[in-house]
Amino acid sequence: MKTIPFWTDDFPRPVNLPVSSLPERVDIAIVGGGYTGLSAARTLAKGGATVAVLEQREIGGGASSVNGGQVAPGLKLNIQRAFKKYGPEMGRELWQASVAAVRYLEQVLVEEGIDCDYSGRGGIALACKPAHYRHMAAEIEWMARELDFHEMELVPAEGIREEIGSAVFSGGLVEKMGGGLHPAKYIYGLACAAARAGAKLVEHTEVQAIHRPAQGGDFELTTNKGRLRAAEILLATNGYTGPLIPEIQRRVFPVGSYMITTEPLAPELQQELSPKNRVMYSTKWFLNYFRLTPDGRMSMGGRNNLSPDLDLTESAHNLYETMIHIFPQLRGCAATHSWTGRLGITFDLMPHIGRVGGIYYAFGYGGHGVALSGYLGKEAAELISGRISRSPFADIPHQTHFFYQGTPWFLPLAAAYYRFLDAVS
Ligand SMILES: Cc1cc2nc3c(=O)[nH]c(=O)nc-3n(C[C@H](O)[C@H](O)[C@H](O)COP(=O)(O)OP(=O)(O)OC[C@H]3O[C@@H](n4cnc5c(N)ncnc54)[C@H](O)[C@@H]3O)c2cc1C
Repeated sequence: MKTIPFWTDDFPRPVNLPVSSLPERVDIAIVGGGYTGLSAARTLAKGGATVAVLEQREIGGGASSVNGGQVAPGLKLNIQRAFKKYGPEMGRELWQASVAAVRYLEQVLVEEGIDCDYSGRGGIALACKPAHYRHMAAEIEWMARELDFHEMELVPAEGIREEIGSAVFSGGLVEKMGGGLHPAKYIYGLACAAARAGAKLVEHTEVQAIHRPAQGGDFELTTNKGRLRAAEILLATNGYTGPLIPEIQRRVFPVGSYMITTEPLAPELQQELSPKNRVMYSTKWFLNYFRLTPDGRMSMGGRNNLSPDLDLTESAHNLYETMIHIFPQLRGCAATHSWTGRLGITFDLMPHIGRVGGIYYAFGYGGHGVALSGYLGKEAAELISGRISRSPFADIPHQTHFFYQGTPWFLPLAAAYYRFLDAVS
């Protein structure tokens, strides 16, 4: 078993990715070369601004080349809770933005001709307990009534074999929008699109300090490759946000997510496990997300701990056991890859666009970032350029806590709490 991401092993960074050296000055410097940063760069460069994306690793070196590739509407915070918290008007706007994020991703793939094996076959939430299925039945009615959203379908336990070759679930809720994509193909396609629009992609360039002269004017960014001046800065660092701007680091914390893939499966077995080839996830706080890869492997993701530093052999063992519990047919099938990446989570489980000391940021997708990150990147870019004057993700208050100053010491406590919720819910 290789302890590297399957996706970049399958589709490595193209040797001819159009990267640049560090310019002296740009209108907007973007820190972080994932979906958020590249989407913002594409939008800004198309609008005529000079833009540099500074990435400390290679392009896509964070979560954006290693994730599960599941595209779906919705936010980490359940939409009914968002309704209660922010009120119906804002709740509806946030939901519609999450739907728009999926549509926007699909539009960018077409506009830029990005071939990333996007399936568009939708997804299914799988009920771990009968009570979860009853909740789904109530939710689908609520979504139709309050959100006028009808792109969903209940699947009772008796019909679940039409969706998944497993006997462990008590029913499911099909989400017809979205589907699966190849994350590495998407990120490199997006990078080429941003570069074509004129953005400079600068790899292996860590932003180490940001300074603004007392008299105002351009920011000065200090990197390991030299200095750069920029009129505006966007931090698109999500789960990899460091102490660059401590007041921004306090607003997001990293959580590890882990994945494995099997060897390629026989076509009949693929058909049995996932007859409709949807992306799938289970209804728990410590959920599992799984799907067939474009080349017919089963990929399984999840965690039973929030730490970003678990041992990859041990996490693979746990994920394999979960996979066998769901799909006993896969016993004996080899796991070929085990890897991890970092999610960025906020205390209110919402993604945010914000500004601290004149520096913009966009992050906090909590495992729902494949579509949302590109959308928030675009929204942040349009706020910076003045093309739009507001975004719901910039309007909602960004909750912080005095006890988090950059070291997420509370993760083991939070993990115990969520395990308890999973046991009693
Ligand atoms: C294992 C895993 C599975 C996931 N599965 C799904 C899924 O199926 N569906 C879904 O919707 N979401 C999923 N996600 C979440 C999704 O991948 C992320 O929300 C999304 O990729 C975030 O993109 P981003 O550009 O904001 O951040 P990232 O892609 O993480 O990029 C941030 C970048 O900032 C760079 N950086 C940080 N500090 C500096 C600095 N000082 N100087 C220069 N560069 C810096 C980092 O190196 C990194 O490349 C998953 C995440 C993981 C880890």
